[in-house]
Amino acid sequence: STQIHLASRPTGWPTDSNFSTVAVELPDLAEGEIRVANEFISVDPYMRGRMNDTKSYAAPYALDEVMTGGAVGRVVESRAEGFNVGDPVLHQLGWRDLSQSAAGNFRVVKDLPGLPLSAYLGILGMTAFTAYVGLTEIAGLKDGDTVFISGAAGAVGSAAGQIARLKGAKRVIGSAGSAAKVDLLTEKYGYDAAFNYKDGPVRGQLHDAAPEGIDVYFDNVGGEHLEAALDAFNPGGRGALCGAISVYNSTEAPVGPRNMSNMVTRGLTLKGFTVGNYAEHYPAFMADMSEWIAQGKIVFDETVVEGLENAVQGFLDLMRGANTGKMVIKL
Ligand code: NDP
Repeated sequence: STQIHLASRPTGWPTDSNFSTVAVELPDLAEGEIRVANEFISVDPYMRGRMNDTKSYAAPYALDEVMTGGAVGRVVESRAEGFNVGDPVLHQLGWRDLSQSAAGNFRVVKDLPGLPLSAYLGILGMTAFTAYVGLTEIAGLKDGDTVFISGAAGAVGSAAGQIARLKGAKRVIGSAGSAAKVDLLTEKYGYDAAFNYKDGPVRGQLHDAAPEGIDVYFDNVGGEHLEAALDAFNPGGRGALCGAISVYNSTEAPVGPRNMSNMVTRGLTLKGFTVGNYAEHYPAFMADMSEWIAQGKIVFDETVVEGLENAVQGFLDLMRGANTGKMVIKL
């Protein structure tokens, strides 16, 4: 079996030399274990934080250990009740071709007509669930809200724009990093207005897109985007702080928004969250999302990179914006 390990901790942008490819001999299955041939592996921005040796919501990756994270595959051998050869399973054992462990580390999922198994990493999985929780539980989305979403063409963002609309937003605005992505936002994901943050200052572009202000900001990016949103908020505005990808590879301490006092004068609420703490909402998400997909009310994209040997490159491409929708590695 082949695994990808973290070999050393990156400073700034990771490089190939921070990772190693390791061949491992798997022992025979013990009672209660299963072996899974992985089909798709998730690469996610939060993994960058886990490469650092700092305190965060997820423990740092150990050096010379496998890069763990979401993956889906099929059971190829089983010594556990309830797991049969061929069953599709979701797990967190990460960047390897074969995963072997106690059955409790795997969850059997359903093969859904028309959907690839990778959907369990994206539109039916962690990223779309993050969008759902951020809007409903964290931002307290209300009917008639004007909502601004950054990172809008990514896995979380493309789901968030559509969920906001389905949950009653009046106007949905998105930002992304290319003209092609901006077109997708309005033409495919149902955003009312969108802009390319690389075309000019976010503050001015956001004002043009939302001349009457915003009520909700779903922040995937941090930095300049958050500062612009703080200026665009209407009184009582609410921000769900989901991520800050603009600073993940930075080697300098990030500069905080310089206009935090708007929180006082406009009665704003900013709340950060990590989706793992909201698991009790997963059934509600699955019920809504399955229905929306069946009714054709939600569309989604995946960017698929072929081959475990390209996992590191796929991760770096994700951090640079090569993806539209969920980035996955196909084995
Ligand atoms: P995405 O699919 O959105 O991929 C990352 C995207 O970030 C890229 O495609 C790129 O798009 C954009 N990006 C990269 N650098 C910058 C920059 N400097 N400024 C603005 N945009 C940039 O990833 P996810 O959907 O998986 O994650 C989105 C965010 O949500 C991340 O911040 C992530 O950490 C966070 N997250 C938080 C969770 C939580 O529980 N709080 C759970 C899951 C994700 P572009 O071309 O537009 O620049």
